[in-house]
Amino acid sequence: SVSLVLFTADLRLTDHPPLRAALDGGRDVVPLFVRDPAVDAAGFAAPNRLAFLADCLHALDAGLRGRGGRLVLRSGDVVEQVCGVAAETDADEVHLAADVSGYAHRRERRLRRALEAEGRRLHVHDTVTTVRPPGAVTPASSDHFAVFTPYFRRWSQAPLRDVLAAPRAVRVPDGVGSEELPDRGRVAGVSPGLARGGEAEGRRRLAAWLRGGLDSYADDHDDLGIDATSRLSPHLHFGTLSPVELVHRARGAGGAGAEAFVRQLAWRDFHRQLLAVRPHVAGADYRPRYDRWRSGAAARADLAAWQEGRTGYPVIDAAMRQLRHEGWMHNRGRLLAASFLTKTLYIDWRAGARHFLGLLVDGDLASNQLNWQWVAGTGTDTRPNRVLNPVRQGRRYDPDGTYVRRWVPELARVPGPSVHEPWTLRGSDRAAADGYPEPIVDLEEGLARFRRARTGG
Ligand code: FAD
Repeated sequence: SVSLVLFTADLRLTDHPPLRAALDGGRDVVPLFVRDPAVDAAGFAAPNRLAFLADCLHALDAGLRGRGGRLVLRSGDVVEQVCGVAAETDADEVHLAADVSGYAHRRERRLRRALEAEGRRLHVHDTVTTVRPPGAVTPASSDHFAVFTPYFRRWSQAPLRDVLAAPRAVRVPDGVGSEELPDRGRVAGVSPGLARGGEAEGRRRLAAWLRGGLDSYADDHDDLGIDATSRLSPHLHFGTLSPVELVHRARGAGGAGAEAFVRQLAWRDFHRQLLAVRPHVAGADYRPRYDRWRSGAAARADLAAWQEGRTGYPVIDAAMRQLRHEGWMHNRGRLLAASFLTKTLYIDWRAGARHFLGLLVDGDLASNQLNWQWVAGTGTDTRPNRVLNPVRQGRRYDPDGTYVRRWVPELARVPGPSVHEPWTLRGSDRAAADGYPEPIVDLEEGLARFRRARTGG
């Protein structure tokens, strides 16, 4: 008998409950990945993610080949493809990881209906793409937690399932045709500093992180210059690493760094439980604030300056240039860039979220849209009108200006923290900052505009 495993955002062999269940009883397995144009149309198909995905598919195929199997790739509507391959191979069950977006829920419903009509079964597995199933951690009075701290308390208490080892052997039925796997080198428009994808690469990064980064994470994770976060986000996004395994490994290591890191993994689940029950928040405000975001030519020019990293605020420009160069940005940079766009420039968070999703290799509907909303004050932040000052924040989180000098070459020769306020420079320091733009907005005026708009004044 044959099982089919539909791989989606879980491109790994270690700790993979659907694969484990599919192999149960010595079954043959068809490991299938479907390139669905509907996913691309919904904005997935950014070059950085396509390139990373190509790495992940090659690595998954290599992992399967090492175990006697291989990956089957098809393109087209996911339900048609799964049903087609199931019919070709006479697979009587299909295994799939649960996921949280509106698209994922529709996929699951459509698959179930189509497969059951043909006498096949769909098994959907929790705790593959999240640590806790989205519906498992809820308050008594609602279908989701809107505030992180009580969510986190409950999230931390529940027992964790064990980590599953990668299977030793995977036998794929003969004669199943596959398309050629995509080639990273053929994707145009990829960021020059984009990280490599794939499970083996993810596991290398994880091992290095547990050895060398985790201990100091609690102290250093906010420091832009030290750049001391795990950079595991693309691996979590594509599922080349298991979030359950990460919690086990971090807890095993112990210490304040591990605690702080596990807390961030809970933030990931927190946004997922919210998107799962409120799929519209991918595009609409979670808490509508009657914002009349700026529009028109001046707002468009400000948006372009922000996107291109020439706002005249060094820490913002550094962050935006890091995004373009690496397809990734430090969390503190994301917070500052998002606050600057939505509050100081008073431009709709959706414009910023769209730009991020066009470049981020970890670009993710739940984490991106809901963090944007958190910063914009339309989401779950309990202080929705707080505004981050880019100069003060720059001095605090990039105290000697290392981050700015790394990403803004016009300021590379400006010494010390004064790099955060190039307009105050004099003499030879001023000359060193030549070519760097003047600020596009006065911070006080931006703040006043935001406060007026939010209070309806
Ligand atoms: P670490 O600090 O090492 O954290 C470990 C893991 O925890 C991360 O890999 C991530 O999976 C998770 N995590 C950490 N912080 C958050 C958070 N606030 N929300 C959700 N998960 C978190 N993260 C994405 O994965 N995809 C996105 O599209 C995304 N967009 C964002 C947009 C904005 C405006 C902001 C403020 C944050 C966004 N984040 C997003 C969250 C966070 O910035 C990144 O997860 C983090 O910077 C990734 O780097 P890291 O792996 O080194 O993180």
